[in-house]
Amino acid sequence: MQVVASKKIQKVVVLGTGGTIAGTGSSVSDHTGYTAGQLSVQHLLDAVPGLQDSLQGHDLVCEQLAQLDSKDMDHATWQVLAQRCTHWLEQADVVGIVITHGTDTLEETAWFLQQVVDTHKPVVLTCAMRPATALAPDGPQNLLDALTLVCDPQAQAVMVVCAGRIHSARDVQKVHPYRLDAFSSGEAGPLGFMEQGRVRWCASNARPMGHALHAQARLALVVPAADWPWVAVLHSHAGADARQVKALVAAGVKGLVVAGTGNGTVHHAFLTSLGQAQAQGVALRLVSRCTEGQIVGQTELQPSTLGLNAFKARVSLMLDLLE
Ligand code: ASP
Repeated sequence: MQVVASKKIQKVVVLGTGGTIAGTGSSVSDHTGYTAGQLSVQHLLDAVPGLQDSLQGHDLVCEQLAQLDSKDMDHATWQVLAQRCTHWLEQADVVGIVITHGTDTLEETAWFLQQVVDTHKPVVLTCAMRPATALAPDGPQNLLDALTLVCDPQAQAVMVVCAGRIHSARDVQKVHPYRLDAFSSGEAGPLGFMEQGRVRWCASNARPMGHALHAQARLALVVPAADWPWVAVLHSHAGADARQVKALVAAGVKGLVVAGTGNGTVHHAFLTSLGQAQAQGVALRLVSRCTEGQIVGQTELQPSTLGLNAFKARVSLMLDLLE
């Protein structure tokens, strides 16, 4: 018997979920009329030049978990994603995970994973704004950057990389429907930049990348997604009508994230019915509709913690209500 005394090769795992990065169009100039989620993650990896260099000697394992346009992302897919991330990250030889994903709900998936996957290893989501069949697709570079980032010794927790910028799961938000650099971390700024195949972390960035594991994280892995509580987002706006709140409550909503105007103010037409909803057991969380800043001082409803946007606050409230 031959005994091979070699250091165990470490792995990077790439999980495919679809999106424009895996999209195909009928012509090279078609940037909008394409179909997302057509090509396998293996196909995407095969199309990346210089892949081996960015892997720095790590092995690659890939799995196709879904093939979705992320506008249609659902809780069942989130659960599978969280379970597979947990499975892989528990293995000592796995250094981290890259996830290919559509841009539309990327920030929600990133925040969900940040809240439920118990690890300090990096999970890097990446995407594209142009389909793989475009004359100059952005997916291959983003994927290459994601592989470089996941192998970086300082990388940890859930991050997004797109158009050369690294964002935290907490701060990232899609801010543009078309341009290649479609994401922003708002006033927090990016965690770092990808430059010539290297990571430049923002030295001024004192924020911990680290974990905001939700107290109910474990439940998200085991409670069937069909049984997760229904939590909706309600925007306060001119001409608000109480019937919207009443209809949601009558239909069985369990939690409402109220996106208030300005510093968390809510149209008077909503306030009475929201009070009634709360008395009937509906959980309420308040966020601001504003894209920057967070609610300051006293408010009529309980503000969401961390100054999250409405869609991430919805994820957190849903996890709060899991049982
Ligand atoms: N609708 C696409 C998606 O989110 C958009 C994209 O990926 O850029 O899957």
